[in-house]
Amino acid sequence: MPEITLMPVPRGRWVMMCPCGATEIRAEDGPRWAAFDLEKVDGRRYRITCQACGHVTEHFSNQGAMGSIRSASS
Ligand SMILES: [Zn+2]
Repeated sequence: MPEITLMPVPRGRWVMMCPCGATEIRAEDGPRWAAFDLEKVDGRRYRITCQACGHVTEHFSNQGAMGSIRSASS
């Protein structure tokens, strides 16, 4: 079953890839994801929604990639 892929790339950047072809790269300390919605499920899980096709995948937290929404829970 295809899922949205989140993986680190060099220089503190992250790449998010959806099976539909949507792809976004962001810096660890950069602006929040623009093409994907991130929602915190619980302490370590996040739900990622592709805005292009609506595909949803749950991910365990990658602190660097999720940093843009981490502060919302404090
Ligand atoms: Zn998609």
